[in-house]
Amino acid sequence: MTEQYDLVIVGTGPAGAVIARQVHEQNPDATILVLEAGSDITGVAGEHLVEADESAMNASYDDLMRRARQIEYVKGAVSMTEIEGDGWTPESTGVFPAAFFGHNFAAFPGASVAWNIGGMGVHWTAATPWPYAEEIPDFIDRAEWDADQEVARGLLRSYVGPLVADMDNPFTEPIFAALREAVPSPDPERQAGYMPMGGVARAGAPFARTGPRDIAPFLFDGSAANVTLRTGVLVTRLEQDGDRVSALVTRDLVTGEEARYAGRVVVVAADALRTPQLLWASGIRPEALGVRLNEHATIDGEVEIDAARFGLTAADIPVPPNGEPFIGSYWSPSIGAERPAHGQLMEREFDGRHLLSVGWYCATEIRPENRIEFSDELVDSVGMPHMTVHFSYSDADLAEIRRTQAVQLAAANAIGVFPDEEREIQPPGASLHYTGTVRMGADDDGESVVDTDGRVWGFGNLFLAGNGVIPTALTCNSTLTAAVLSVRIARAVSAAL
Ligand SMILES: Cc1cc2nc3c(=O)[nH]c(=O)nc-3n(C[C@H](O)[C@H](O)[C@H](O)COP(=O)(O)OP(=O)(O)OC[C@H]3O[C@@H](n4cnc5c(N)ncnc54)[C@H](O)[C@@H]3O)c2cc1C
Repeated sequence: MTEQYDLVIVGTGPAGAVIARQVHEQNPDATILVLEAGSDITGVAGEHLVEADESAMNASYDDLMRRARQIEYVKGAVSMTEIEGDGWTPESTGVFPAAFFGHNFAAFPGASVAWNIGGMGVHWTAATPWPYAEEIPDFIDRAEWDADQEVARGLLRSYVGPLVADMDNPFTEPIFAALREAVPSPDPERQAGYMPMGGVARAGAPFARTGPRDIAPFLFDGSAANVTLRTGVLVTRLEQDGDRVSALVTRDLVTGEEARYAGRVVVVAADALRTPQLLWASGIRPEALGVRLNEHATIDGEVEIDAARFGLTAADIPVPPNGEPFIGSYWSPSIGAERPAHGQLMEREFDGRHLLSVGWYCATEIRPENRIEFSDELVDSVGMPHMTVHFSYSDADLAEIRRTQAVQLAAANAIGVFPDEEREIQPPGASLHYTGTVRMGADDDGESVVDTDGRVWGFGNLFLAGNGVIPTALTCNSTLTAAVLSVRIARAVSAAL
């Protein structure tokens, strides 16, 4: 038997949650089914880890970093199972390196996927900087983009200010002043300042980071009778009838039981790697599928804050409430082609040192050589098509990385003394912001997978959402940009219903 719904969404990360929220609001009577491969990671589905347990977010992040470092040691390896025991099991939850599932990500070793309700949206740091200049798709009407961006900022609860409402931090203004001088901007709106963060600043408590549950509470708490969430079920295939998806086939990851669902409209929001994987598995293989994988290069670093330089002492360092790892979160925005790179700077105390992490993301060229190759013969550890990633930096990328390192150096030296060993270019994939694998385009010219409404070219009822749809080379963290596009796509889905 095939259960029938108006809309079926695959994936409960921020993109799936934005689609569910918007369509439910615009079409309150529509029946919506959301299918999610992952299971519960906390007692409250879709809630950000920082809310569940004060140490859970840090533990999850440390775990991810540990695994990413392990991948560094085995760059040439195809599988992680040798160093991680038996690897993934249906009971595993959390964020895992893609290589963990048997894929060949030797050229993109930092890449990871979330395997839990809420996707990466329950783990994320929640930085929500907005895109600028070339980062905004030129084929979208600017007024429409701006309006959708405001809606997306509202949904992610994007906020600009101190992380803890009642915590005075005498270091903030001197840090801003130092950064503004070291990394100047001709546009007063693009000066160094607070990093926009998705969440709510509270008094005496950690910053309440936005999880998918905050975006679409009814999806997770069962409060809407016509909205259903099924978890622990992997969508393995989209069946087609002419230009329509006629059914979604799922497999229960524990029992192995198969089921079929039909939606008048289907939206796949299963991340930038597994969305194209599912299309490939279903025989939906447009020329641009998995091609033009893009990621900003990640240049990390950490500098000890020189308090004396700002007329302050160690006694002035504020102590954040239990469970809040950061004292402050700051932003040095990109300014377009002149400096297509942005800094995410996090202030914290660690091991008795007062530190500012000086991470910079710089845009890289969009090139067809950077792509995911799917296999017709090999499968991953859950039986989906095996992926090999081809990825390298062009000469222009390497030059941009060097330029960005000089920006990072200037910024860090304005805060303290920046030792060489604290500067590091992260392996490709490590930003977790991969884009372009199912990119949006204005024309069906072989360089895009979806039209400007997110509808797969040639299909009547199949839409895609998430980072993979983003068609531009971003400097900024990708989630807000993907959410802006999801607001747009949800509008088209509502109209189609
Ligand atoms: C530690 C960490 C920090 C981060 N910090 C930031 C940040 O500060 N700012 C920022 O912008 N971004 C950040 N990110 C990235 C951000 O979380 C992602 O951009 C965002 O979650 C992507 O949303 P999504 O809904 O497209 O995908 P995801 O959140 O990955 O959700 C996809 C969902 O689809 C499900 N799924 C996949 N395949 C199938 C299938 N075949 N069947 C059923 N379900 C399936 C998955 O289980 C998953 O739940 C961070 C990520 C991590 C892990």
